[in-house]
Formats: sequence, structure tokens, C-alpha cells
Amino acid sequence: MASYVHIPALELQGFVTRIFLAAGCTEAEAGRISHHLVGANLAGHDSHGVVRVPRYVEWHRAGHIVGGRKAEVVTDGGGFLLLDGGYGWGQVVAEQATRLAIARARQLGACVMGLRNSAHLGRVGDYAEMAAAEGLISIHFVNVGGSVLVAPFGGAERRFSTAPFSVGVPLPGGPVVLDFATSLVAEGKVLVASNGGKALPEGALVSPDGTLSADPRTLYGDYAPVGPRNPENGLGAIRAFGEHKGSGLAFMCELLAGCLTGSPTSGPVEARGRVVNGMLSIHLSPKHFGDEAAFHAAAQSYVDWVKTCRPVHPDEPVLAPGEMESRRRAERLVSGVPLPEEAWANIRATAAALGVEAP
Ligand code: NAD
Repeated sequence: MASYVHIPALELQGFVTRIFLAAGCTEAEAGRISHHLVGANLAGHDSHGVVRVPRYVEWHRAGHIVGGRKAEVVTDGGGFLLLDGGYGWGQVVAEQATRLAIARARQLGACVMGLRNSAHLGRVGDYAEMAAAEGLISIHFVNVGGSVLVAPFGGAERRFSTAPFSVGVPLPGGPVVLDFATSLVAEGKVLVASNGGKALPEGALVSPDGTLSADPRTLYGDYAPVGPRNPENGLGAIRAFGEHKGSGLAFMCELLAGCLTGSPTSGPVEARGRVVNGMLSIHLSPKHFGDEAAFHAAAQSYVDWVKTCRPVHPDEPVLAPGEMESRRRAERLVSGVPLPEEAWANIRATAAALGVEAP
């Protein structure tokens, strides 16, 4: 069993901010990245939290992530926009693009926004929550260019990225936010498992001979307890979720977030080594569609009805999408962010190399 340290969220955020400042980020960048990463931990998505710090610092040092970039408008059709992130920090350029799309949807009723060439933009639900906080429904298709990790339905070789998908619906009682990778597990969950964290479900991975596995070495090859994990070193793949249906959704994420926006895909012609997110987001304003209050009432009563479903296990109630995350957030704001010792050691090693003292 892995042992965990618990770090108060604000203290962790301050520490991560100092690491990114020391790595050469501006104050605005470092603050936004650390806020997003700790926010992912608070939501319970440790795979997209501070465990990413060593890898992000390394990508920045290697020039895969370019500091100081802003999302630049390539096409402006009013209700549709295409932006280019210029390989800037994903948490920064995706926030800028999302804020612009939100403003347009609030003005026009709807906005379709494509973002290409963003560095890793993290937990996609963050952008759905941003839109929901402004009263907007949003749908996000995301792909990961330069990252081929997932076997399509029926395949034993990598073809897709972990291509995440998210939908957010604002409601008076709190937003409903669906947010998942189209792989059976996000790559970050393999990373967490390899760092002594939660084990993978059986059959999450597939070996080149078609054998199912839950061993992170299927993806990363052999690795030391503390140090980098590189999927290039492994021969196996993560499996797409939901058999042919999840595999089909991953396919569509690559076509919409990659091919349509002009962002790289997980295909063979794309450059490897640089992880690039593309995102196609659709923002809708319920107010412009008709009676917002009637929509809220109908949707809230539907959510409440679904949740009255008798659970299979009496102590595991049926939850709405996003509910798990808000429960975790409430818990972790009190108890602190739990980090496996190995992940914490990796982050401290990155900080020490930059001359940053750990709390
Ligand atoms: P996951 O398997 O934990 O699924 C999360 C979704 O399932 C959420 O909507 C959650 O509310 C819902 N859920 C969880 N438990 C539930 C329950 N008991 N009842 C009902 N609903 C429940 O998520 P994942 O696939 O591991 O993805 C983790 C994160 O990784 C996501 O935030 C995703 O955006 C992110 N991601 C990002 C990238 C990228 O390139 N930026 C790539 C892949 C994944």
C-alpha cells in the first residue's frame, strides 16, 4: 500500500507557483497553472493535478511548451472562432480562448470555438465549469496530437490519443459536468498508479499480443520508483472505453478537435515528442434558446428524479455527473490534497533542481 502525505491546498498551490516561477513562467502563467493543477487534485482527478509538475517543467525546458504565448484569433466569424495557442501553456491559452467564446455566446446565444496548438490544457471539466459559472451549457471535444497511446476497439496497437470529452450544464443547485478521457483510464491514471497511487482496473491496458493487463509497465516499460515515465519506452496500449462506442467517440474527437481545427492528431504524420491539445467547444446560452427559468426547473427536476434511483449498493447512491468532483472538493479543502510519497518526492526533486524549497 502506498503511503500518502496530505498538503493543504493553498500551501501546495503556493509551492507549485514558486516552481513554475523558478522555471521561467510569468506570475500570471505560474498562478494560473498552479490554480488549475491543484483544482484538478481538489476535484479528485489526481492524474491531472500536481503529479504533472515534473513533466511540465521538463516540457518547458525542452521547448515543447512556449512561455509568454497568448491565444491568437485566426478566424473570427462572430458565432464561430478559430484560435491558435502557439504551443503556449495550455491552462493559459485554453482559458483565454474559453473566456472569448463565453463572451460571444452570452452576446449571440451560441459560439463554436476551435483552439489549435495548445500545450496540455489539463482537466477539461475546468473549462466546462468556467462556462457553467457564466450560465452557459458547453460541449468540448479534445484531442492530443503527438500522443498515440490508445488501441481502438478490436485493436492491439496504439492509434488514438486519450482524447477527452466534456459537457457542462449550469443549474441553480450546481452544474452537471461530465468529463472523461475516451480511454478506459486517462494516461495520468497510469502515471498515478506507477507512482504508487491507485491501482488500475483489470484490463485497462493491452499488450502487443492482445493480452489484457493492469501493470503500468505495459505502457511505460521498466522504470525506477522515482524518476520520469515515458510511454515511448513501453510496447502496449491503453484500451478505449465502452467497446466500439467509446472507441467511436475517440475517433470523432480526433476528427473534430484535431483535423477540423488544424491541430495535430495522433496520426502517423504528426511530430512526436510535443504533446499538443486541440479543442472544439460549443457554448450555448439557455437564455437565448427560450425560457431559462423553465429550462433550469425541468433539468433540476430531471436530475433529482434520476438520483432517486434505488442504488445497487445501499451505501453508494446514484450520482449526477460532476457530483463526485464536488464531494471530493469539499473533503479535500478540509483534509488537504493527498499525494502518494513517490509523487511528492518527484515534485520535491523538480523543485530542488530549480532551487525552490518545499513546504
Ligand atoms: P473518470 O473515469 O474519473 O470519469 C469522470 C467522470 O465520471 C466525471 O464526469 C464524473 O463526475 C463521473 N463519475 C465518476 N464517478 C461517478 C459515479 N459514481 N456516478 C456517476 N458519475 C460518476 O475520468 P477520466 O477518464 O479518468 O478522466 C480524468 C480527467 O482527465 C478528466 O478531467 C479529463 O478531462 C482529463 N484528461 C485530459 C486530457 C488532456 O489531454 N488534456 C486527456 C485525457 C484526460
